[in-house]
Amino acid sequence: MDNCERRAFIKQAFKYVSFAGFITIAGCGDGGKANNPQPIPETNAITSNDPCDITALTEQDIKHRNALGYAEETPILDQTCDNCKLYIPENDNKKCGTCTLFKGPVAIGGYCTYWADKAV
Ligand code: SF4
Repeated sequence: MDNCERRAFIKQAFKYVSFAGFITIAGCGDGGKANNPQPIPETNAITSNDPCDITALTEQDIKHRNALGYAEETPILDQTCDNCKLYIPENDNKKCGTCTLFKGPVAIGGYCTYWADKAV
């Protein structure tokens, strides 16, 4: 083997080693995800410390609330969720409770078209 053949052999050997190294690097680890984080899928399982948070409700739940005319602030000052017969107060929560008509929190100052006087 003369110098030219040896040089060609070494060049060829480096090509194989480089290619094998590339395959090894490309095939290990997390495939580059650490540098390219994937978006977190949206779910209804997101929770919040805010007791009035409605982000866990489905689109259907929201439609149902809206169909009953629910508003977080009453347009009629003496008719609020707090003095409605259908209101269920939450233990320590002064801002929101729940309603027997639909899912999710309702504000104590809220209102819907099904308001029923608690005093009657
Ligand atoms: Fe509030 Fe309407 Fe439920 Fe009464 S029925 S608690 S007004 S959302």
